[in-house]
Amino acid sequence: MPRPGVPQIETDPAILRQHVLDAAAAGRRVGFVPTMGALHAGHLSLVKAAADCDDVVVSIFVNPTQFGPGEDFERYPRSLQADCELLADVGVRWVFAPPVEAIYPAGDATRITVDGPSRRWEGEHRPGHFQGVATVVGKLFMMVPAAAAYFGAKDWQQTVVVRRMVRDLAIPIEIVVCPTMREPDGLAMSSRNVYLSADERQRAVSLSAGLTEARRVWQGGANVATAERALREPLTHHAVQVDYAVLVDPTTLEPLPAQASGVPAIALVAGRVGSTRLIDNLLLS
Ligand code: AMP
Repeated sequence: MPRPGVPQIETDPAILRQHVLDAAAAGRRVGFVPTMGALHAGHLSLVKAAADCDDVVVSIFVNPTQFGPGEDFERYPRSLQADCELLADVGVRWVFAPPVEAIYPAGDATRITVDGPSRRWEGEHRPGHFQGVATVVGKLFMMVPAAAAYFGAKDWQQTVVVRRMVRDLAIPIEIVVCPTMREPDGLAMSSRNVYLSADERQRAVSLSAGLTEARRVWQGGANVATAERALREPLTHHAVQVDYAVLVDPTTLEPLPAQASGVPAIALVAGRVGSTRLIDNLLLS
């Protein structure tokens, strides 16, 4: 069982790595939760899942390479002190909060590109995003040689990309995917929800409303075309600028034929509410 108390904050990858190697050598299973901070109950659910392990590492690093030009890297919420307070007494042994130079040393020239599952959806609307994600997660996995890493289903495509990278590069780590935590009205918890005005916050519920409606009709036997219409209806009604709202294969992320029904499917949605871009998804089967 992880120990209660205040986590130790480490900024130096070499020191953190040694702690993890020492714990593993002592027979302890180490769990790792990578985050960009601005922690909420969604992140804490990953920490709880990781409590299966003997020791838990949470990383907090706002990764510049996964933000495109004109995205919100500069204004992304940063709250290390509040994050550390949230992580007290939940069984986290180490918080890894490296400076940018520790992850991207001067002259850094190496990137990890995962083709295939990175191409569509988020990959199309945020060029370079998954290269940034794969690069930072790959580096973090080397700095934090844990037995298992915990990711949220909230970022479904990210979990598919990370799994593919781990398989292709034979990285010895187990990937655990945990359910999406939601507000009582269904909105998926996200560090970006703080950007929403009161009006936008109400309209943002249309993402999860569309997803649950799509699941309802899909489970009633509807085909892909009908379920996609049900998914889009609340988004249109609440003036969400939709990037994509689709049913896809959960493992390949390839689109499903319009007439298909009763096959494994996940609904993916992304759109802008005002100037805030939100994503969400729901397994339909
Ligand atoms: P982030 O800090 O946004 O990069 O997220 C760090 C991890 O927390 C990722 O694996 C996310 O998928 C996960 N996460 C974010 N929001 C949620 C949520 N609402 N429920 C579950 N996991 C989440």
